[in-house]
Amino acid sequence: MGPVIDAHVHIVSPELSREAQPYIEKDDFLAQICSSPGHRFASAGDLLAEMDRCGVERAAICSFPFSDEGLCREINDYLLEAARAHPGRFMPMASVDPRESWMEREIARCHDGGAVGVGELFPWGQNFALSGSEAARLAACCRERGLILLLHTNEPVGHNYAGKGPAYLKEAAAFALDHPQLQLIYAHWGGGLLFYELMPELKRGLQHLFYDTAAGPFLYNPRIYRAAREIGILHKILLGTDYPLLSPRRYLKELAESGLSAAEQRLIRRENAAALFPRAGAEKQNG
Ligand SMILES: [Zn+2]
Repeated sequence: MGPVIDAHVHIVSPELSREAQPYIEKDDFLAQICSSPGHRFASAGDLLAEMDRCGVERAAICSFPFSDEGLCREINDYLLEAARAHPGRFMPMASVDPRESWMEREIARCHDGGAVGVGELFPWGQNFALSGSEAARLAACCRERGLILLLHTNEPVGHNYAGKGPAYLKEAAAFALDHPQLQLIYAHWGGGLLFYELMPELKRGLQHLFYDTAAGPFLYNPRIYRAAREIGILHKILLGTDYPLLSPRRYLKELAESGLSAAEQRLIRRENAAALFPRAGAEKQNG
């Protein structure tokens, strides 16, 4: 069925993976993420091997958000270098803290270095409100530069897990509605926001909003793919794996068994992401 594009993975430098303690000491949110049972890190090399095993051609690579500028620069540089070393395989996403005055500077630096977007950012984990001025600055900066913004969202109901924060579905809906020019992705099926696209005013106002499937196998019955078809939003669903949390294999199996037609599966496996993510961004690193 052709190569896949993965819109949501996390990698870190081998230094961080080997010895996370000095990083954790500088960052509470990272400490929280790393304390979850079963947590593991992957490097660009690990990811590339998994992509080759699973038929993934390109992946949007995220690190983790830090509040320290030096740590953000260090981890962003690792992603930018990985993309340069493997042309056409990685689409780097910049990590920043929207509460800080250096946010715009770091986004600009990453964009110049080949980043195609910003994310995955965690409004709850990074303590910024989607209704506040920090998120508005972030949106403006991404929009001006034509960068994609990937935000973590999670369900207001259901079981708890590491990474699940307080729900802000209402704020997430308002933020998306307020920024119709923004190339916006809500992770983890938008925390369920997609179901409200059955409301005509939300469907109209959220045409620019994409949803990724990250962690979906832990959250939803695979029938969610057919539900998305019924809602009429298959053109906005991106395959995102949250690797190394889960392998692409798991998603591709669910998708193959979803009951969607081959053409519909191709939208999610590749075509929606191919249209959203700039080709130039993936190839800029060549020269
Ligand atoms: Zn997430």
